Amino acid sequence: MSGTLYVCATPIGNLNDISKRLRDTLEMADLIAAEDTRHSGKLLSYLGIEKPCISYFTHNRRGHGEVILAALLEGKNVVLMSDAGTPAISDPGEELVADCAAQNIPVIAVPGPCAAIAGLVVSGLPTGRFVFEGFLSTQRKGRMERLAELQYEKRTMIFYEAPHKLVRTLTDFVDTFGTERKISLCREMTKLHEETLRMTMGEALQYFTENVPRGEFVLIVGGTEEKPAEWEEMTIEAHFSMLLEDGMSKMDAVKKVAAERGIPKRDVYDRVMK
Ligand code: SAM
Repeated sequence: MSGTLYVCATPIGNLNDISKRLRDTLEMADLIAAEDTRHSGKLLSYLGIEKPCISYFTHNRRGHGEVILAALLEGKNVVLMSDAGTPAISDPGEELVADCAAQNIPVIAVPGPCAAIAGLVVSGLPTGRFVFEGFLSTQRKGRMERLAELQYEKRTMIFYEAPHKLVRTLTDFVDTFGTERKISLCREMTKLHEETLRMTMGEALQYFTENVPRGEFVLIVGGTEEKPAEWEEMTIEAHFSMLLEDGMSKMDAVKKVAAERGIPKRDVYDRVMK
């Protein structure tokens, strides 16, 4: 019989967030798959636990994923953990869980800290419906394409960002969402210098242009509060025709329909150029 993969969340800064269940699961595991074995080694030595460890990160996930699957198929219980927070959330894990599912290997979550959810719940923005976007592309083209898809998003949006890229990202946010859109910037959560800034997008850009961003950030962006646009009630073809009637060229209309609906230009083109 196969063992079980335990997907274990670990603290995002405060070791008091270690749950009893996390400790118990680490104690009974036969193998620990960690994003960075040195980093996780510190958590294990804090808990006084010694276990065989294997690294599992983006660039070795194929090779080491095979070793981990073989261990599970031999009946070993394996813990998957990342450097901080919940594995598979902007961290390695998704593929390993999918491989386990494909081979009927049981997967159990040991839930706990996740910066995205911690930021969302203190943001003061609507929590009923939200969308997790993680890190935006480092390439401007990819970044702006993704943001164009989100321009009319009504749900609250969650992003991760590194401090040295924050001003660049806020600049792109202002270009996409405008200066008045609400944003909550959650910094160093669960740590000594924890702070949540609730501002408009324009204020956030000005503040972090004047004050160097430090520490880790989750950015929570409010969804659009604008009334639904006319096109939202229309088919793609009617939307396209409306733009042509307004005097737009066919290619510009294809681009605009795709951007407003958050769908690929190719899909619009195939529908309207038939
Ligand atoms: N899997 C993790 C989770 O569940 O939160 C996220 C890993 S991702 C590689 C790291 C990003 O999470 C950071 O760049 C930052 O955006 C966010 N983050 C992690 N810890 C944080 C903290 N204590 N305060 C604010 N943001 C944090």
